Amino acid sequence: MMETIHIDGSLGEGGGQVLRSSLALSMITGKRVEFKNIRAGRAKPGLMRQHLACVRAAQKFCGARVQGDELKSMEVSFIPGEIQAGDYHFNVGSAGSVGLVLQTVMPALILADGPSTLILEGGTHNPMAPPFDFLKQVFVPQLAKMGVKMDMNLEDWGFFPAGGGRMNVSIEPVNELKSLSLMTRGALKNRRGRAVVSSIPISIAESEVKVLQSKLEWKDISAEEVLQPNGPGNIVMTELEFEHVSELCSSFGEKGIRAARVADKAVCAIRKYLLSEAPVGEHLADQLLLPMALAGEGEFLCTEISSHTRTNMEVIQKFLKVKFSVREQNQAFHISIT
Ligand code: ATP
Repeated sequence: MMETIHIDGSLGEGGGQVLRSSLALSMITGKRVEFKNIRAGRAKPGLMRQHLACVRAAQKFCGARVQGDELKSMEVSFIPGEIQAGDYHFNVGSAGSVGLVLQTVMPALILADGPSTLILEGGTHNPMAPPFDFLKQVFVPQLAKMGVKMDMNLEDWGFFPAGGGRMNVSIEPVNELKSLSLMTRGALKNRRGRAVVSSIPISIAESEVKVLQSKLEWKDISAEEVLQPNGPGNIVMTELEFEHVSELCSSFGEKGIRAARVADKAVCAIRKYLLSEAPVGEHLADQLLLPMALAGEGEFLCTEISSHTRTNMEVIQKFLKVKFSVREQNQAFHISIT
């Protein structure tokens, strides 16, 4: 009989990651999941549009039987079917993050029995979610080391709240993931700062560029305008490429927040990363846990561990027979699976 995993969504920090990781693992292991208290730790608990989109995507990709998939629902039953590789087109709706939907379905697709292509529509650059550029430049290269051939392209930018973005992804699966050891950054290869605006004056990006130039003194810093905008938006990205790892920090413009502050935030975040020598930043740490657990072994050194990361480890351990260990090492954290 199919094993059932009971997931209490108030676990750890009680956010949406508990749901996404559980859905991904349910699709892979074929284990049924009964969720309760979904996102109980958040001010607006239950399934918001973004989370509902992840449930629907998971359902679509494996033909799952689902109950409780409604807005604000705090209880969901998810009975997975077999994961189907293939060509998919999924509209997340308004500015729902395409990155978070990808996070939900990609683990199963990298272990599927054939290649897949995805067209995902919605928000490509959202606060509180991995922006397209982070996935492409920071996350995907690490997956490549584990043997996965994954490519992604941005066709249209989608910012909150208008959305309308579009990315395409191709995934060639593997039978088994190789283990990853990411303990050093290696030599610095590139530094780049970008301020991008959509449907708002380029002068805003130019002000942000001035701040980046004065505070970072990097050569490659540019102000860019989205050519076919779908709505207003602004993001500042500070990127470092090392031999073994890249990091990309981002900050979003908001009405009423001065451009200088937006740029400052991206500067502070990348400076914080540079204070440490650990290769893996907070968000990459989060996102590497699941593929590493699927490989069955691996290790990395990260700059910090968020409660989000700890919660994610707990969820993964409920589905897979793996044990994460965390050890402090020279003001960084060594995470490993043995
Ligand atoms: P909620 O219940 O609020 O929706 P959540 O768990 O879905 O909670 P977050 O804690 O914001 O949301 O995390 C969402 C995911 O997006 C995580 O995998 C995190 O690593 C990633 N993420 C968030 N911000 C960034 C960023 N600036 N760069 C890269 N990845 C990010």
